[in-house]
Formats: sequence, C-alpha cells, structure tokens
Amino acid sequence: MNARPIDSVERRIIRLPAVLALGSNLGDREATILGALDDLRVTDGIEVVAVSRLYETTAVRPTGVDADAPAYLNAVALIRTSLHPEELLGVVNQIEHEHGRVRTERWGDRTLDVDIVSFASVVRNTERLTLPHPRAAERDFVLVPWLEVDPDAVLPGRGRVDELVRGVQQTTLRPYVGESR
Ligand code: ATP
Ligand code: CA
Ligand code: CA
Ligand code: CA
Repeated sequence: MNARPIDSVERRIIRLPAVLALGSNLGDREATILGALDDLRVTDGIEVVAVSRLYETTAVRPTGVDADAPAYLNAVALIRTSLHPEELLGVVNQIEHEHGRVRTERWGDRTLDVDIVSFASVVRNTERLTLPHPRAAERDFVLVPWLEVDPDAVLPGRGRVDELVRGVQQTTLRPYVGESR
C-alpha cells in the first residue's frame, strides 16, 4: 500500500497530551488567564483536560527577582490536542496577541504569556520551538501547579516533576487567594 499523508479526519481523532503554562502580570490578571483558558476550550483540536489553581509569584527579570515589578499570576493547563506542535504554538501566540501581549524587552511585563511546557514525549530544538520548554525544569511556578493537576507528571528528558521540584529553589510562589479587600 502506498504511504499517504494522514488526512484531516484521521488527524482529528489522534489526540496527544500537552502541558501549557499561563502567566500574566499586567491588567486584570485573573480575567486574562481565565479568558485565555476559555479561548483554548473553544479552539478546534484542543481539549482542556485540567487546570491548576492560580499561583502568585514575584516577577523575575534577567537581573533577578524584582519586587518592584507587578507580580505574576500563573497557572498550568493539561490539554489534549490533534494539532501539531507548531500549530499549537501558533494558537497560543494568537491568544496572547488577542489579550494585548506586546513583545518588548526580555522577560518584560505582559498581559499574557502562554508557554508549551511539554508536548507528548517530544524532545527537540528548532528556532521557533524547543520542547520541552528549556527553562521549565527550574521554575517552581511551572512545576508546582503542574504537579497539582498531575502528581505523576514527567518532563521529557528531565525526569519526574516531583523530583525536579525538590531541586528547585522555592522562591516567592504562593497560592493566589484573590485581591485583598
Ligand atoms: P521564557 O521562554 O524564558 O519563558 P518568554 O516566555 O518571555 O520567556 P517569549 O517572548 O514569550 O519568551 O517567547 C520567545 C519565543 O520563544 C517565542 O517566539 C517562541 O517562538 C519561542 N519558543 C521556543 N520554545 C517555546 C515553547 N516551548 N513554548 C513557547 N514558546 C517557545
Ligand atoms: Ca475545543
Ligand atoms: Ca514564559
Ligand atoms: Ca512565552
């Protein structure tokens, strides 16, 4: 039988697990993250399986922790998707854009950041997309919410998330309890 490309009907039934990390430190952070999760839910080819609680973290600049910068809200979502990794990156970049993300300086303040933490067991490094995310293993604001929704999580090529989290310096991560009133 001749090899042929998998058609769109078949592609729609092959769904792979992926992990997304969402962050916001500008504007109505909670509304932005919840809105982005809704945007993911209504996207064809994406099913949102689980979402962590929201966590708050002091901002990190290339120069270190910056208590003067607006703090981040972070969450992790487990999805299943029939999209290819690049297509998924395109979707999350579009959602960032719709929520007013403007790219200026590295690790600058932003309304919304969505990173692909892992995509199935894929390990690769291209100009546009590195999988798993190269800095996820050092980030408590990624590992802790991820562990909350998947206690057996594994970061491809790096090992169990519960073991990685033990090696990470616990910084300023705290569960988000809403605006103080
Ligand atoms: P960091 O990557 O350290 O979390 P950042 O999220 O602020 O920093 P961005 O400006 O949002 O960085 O992204 C820069 C580029 O990273 C994107 O244009 C994208 O092409 C690339 N990239 C590579 N791997 C990934 C990934 N796994 N998830 C999201 N973006 C990625
Ligand atoms: Ca959907
Ligand atoms: Ca990021
Ligand atoms: Ca990003």
